[in-house]
Formats: sequence, structure tokens, C-alpha cells
Amino acid sequence: PRPVLAVVGRPNVGKSTLVNRILGRREAVVEDKPGVTRDRVSYPAEWAGVDFTLVDTGGWEVDVAGIHARVAEQAEVAIDLADVVLFVVDATVGATSTDEQVVRLLRKARKPVVLAANKVDGPRQEADAAELWSLGLGEPHPISSLHGRGIGDLLDAVVEEL
Ligand code: GDP
Ligand code: MG
Repeated sequence: PRPVLAVVGRPNVGKSTLVNRILGRREAVVEDKPGVTRDRVSYPAEWAGVDFTLVDTGGWEVDVAGIHARVAEQAEVAIDLADVVLFVVDATVGATSTDEQVVRLLRKARKPVVLAANKVDGPRQEADAAELWSLGLGEPHPISSLHGRGIGDLLDAVVEEL
């Protein structure tokens, strides 16, 4: 069976935009504001001759009080079924407590993790990406899912773990 790459992260960091970028087409639903409830969606994908299943963990019910619990729940299921986790953080926002919560789940799961520092649209955000070394997950890969910046290098790092 194909290895599973699960894209995990809190709402609005750009997971679905990244999934579309990897697929080379618009299939995952991108929302300006989180709020559409949707199940996990799997897509067949390929990079550098390596076939894998790409899982977008989309759609969170917005509930300010409960958002941590929901993110943890979604992330936990996705991490469980993943061979490798692609953890997406919004570099322009920096690491939030919700991100830290996902990091704790990742540590517990002991799965290989590739860290994507998204929304690095230009050189001005490179320093923001470097700050994510503080998460303790290794090298933050600076990418712009919106503009396609850094995606090839990111996927090279991913397929090394698959
Ligand atoms: P998800 O909730 O994590 O799946 O995030 P989405 O993919 O739905 O994106 C949330 C918002 O962030 C949308 O308005 C996207 O256009 C925007 N976005 C995603 N990637 C980037 C990026 O690389 N740069 C910028 N500036 N915006 C982005
Ligand atoms: Mg999404």
C-alpha cells in the first residue's frame, strides 16, 4: 500500500492550499475563514517517482472555547493513520499554544515529522520561519503554498521520510 502523508495543523495555516499545490490542481477546499465542517480527504499524489496518499485534515467547527480540543482530536486521528506527518505552521503568526499542543501529540506518536513554515511569500518572512526552530521539530522548511515557493525542497524532504 502507498505510504500516507497527513497534513496537520491548526485552522487557517494553509493546509488545503498546500495540498492543492502538491496535487497541482484545486481539489481541497480553501476557506478564508475556518468554519466548514468536512471530513478528512485523501488524494493519490506523487513526487520524484514516489507514490503516496495525501491526507488533508480540513474543516473544523469553529468554537472559540473548544478549538483546542477539536484540533487535538482531528490531529490525533490523522497522526495515527499517517506514516509521515507534514506539520504546517503559519510563520507570519508564529507558534501558538494550539501549535504547541499538536507538537505534544507528535512527540507522543513518534512518527517522522516534516515541519512546513507556510506563508513565507518573500524574503521578508524568512526570519519568521527560522523562529520555528524553537518548536524542537528540526528544520522549518520555508514555503509559500499560495505562490509555490519552496515546495520542491519541502517535498524532497518529505519523500526522504516516506
Ligand atoms: P487551512 O484551514 O489550514 O486548510 O487553510 P487554507 O488552505 O484554507 O488557507 C487559509 C487562508 O490562508 C486562505 O485565505 C489562503 O489563501 C491563505 N494562504 C494559504 N497559504 C498561503 C501562503 O502561502 N501565503 C499567504 N499569504 N496566504 C496563504
Ligand atoms: Mg483546509
